[in-house]
Amino acid sequence: MVSCKICGGNSDLAFQANILNAHNVSYFVCSNCGFIQTEEPYWLEDAYKKSISLTDTGIIQRNLFSVKITTAFIKLFFNSKSSYVDMAGGYGLFVRMMRDKGFSFLWNDLYTENIFAQGFEFDKNQDIHTELITAFEAFEHFVNPTQELETMLEVSKNIFFSTLLTPQAIPDKNWWYYAFQTGQHISFYSKKSLLELAKKYNLQLYSNNKDFHLLTEKRLSAILVKCLFFYFKIKQYIFYRTKSFSKDSNLLINS
Ligand SMILES: [Zn+2]
Repeated sequence: MVSCKICGGNSDLAFQANILNAHNVSYFVCSNCGFIQTEEPYWLEDAYKKSISLTDTGIIQRNLFSVKITTAFIKLFFNSKSSYVDMAGGYGLFVRMMRDKGFSFLWNDLYTENIFAQGFEFDKNQDIHTELITAFEAFEHFVNPTQELETMLEVSKNIFFSTLLTPQAIPDKNWWYYAFQTGQHISFYSKKSLLELAKKYNLQLYSNNKDFHLLTEKRLSAILVKCLFFYFKIKQYIFYRTKSFSKDSNLLINS
């Protein structure tokens, strides 16, 4: 038994899995909030030899979609003229696209080289008000989620992020998001674990109950947020129905 990294509750062994075809790893689930965490991840150096996984064929589509949904949230609920930071910004594609749309986005990433947004690196020592942080597909990589969140909250109390919620108490081992073959996903959130985080830091949580979430100090119109998420649910459905050629197998796969 270990202690839940989100709420401090008791986490029991859920299952073991082989990751990176090399390590037998234990996964624990919290009996209070449902957060799933691996044992202390000693394999990350191996896992991050390439920080953006070669198996990630959805990278462009996801960025395009994130640009659309973030733009809508900013225009409706935040100050478009303010500054923004994309944490775990990868190659900088998202920042580049948001800047091209006229939003003052800065890039930040500890592991990946900034290719598309060079010259727009975030510097925490600069005294600039940051209206909102974005962090797409980052939370599931966090070794210490609360510590990472606290670091972000020092920059802004509004965080728009994506991570796929656990679809049931303990998803079976076929759940693709475990990503055993890359070894990079080590933290898996239920809706309740996000609510625990919101409560702990005195924030509001707005979520589409699937993959996009907003932790914010603002109280927003719940109906408006719901409508927005619903609109993008339809859009996402259309987006993700397109098919991509897999790099390795030349087979059509659902991305
Ligand atoms: Zn917990």
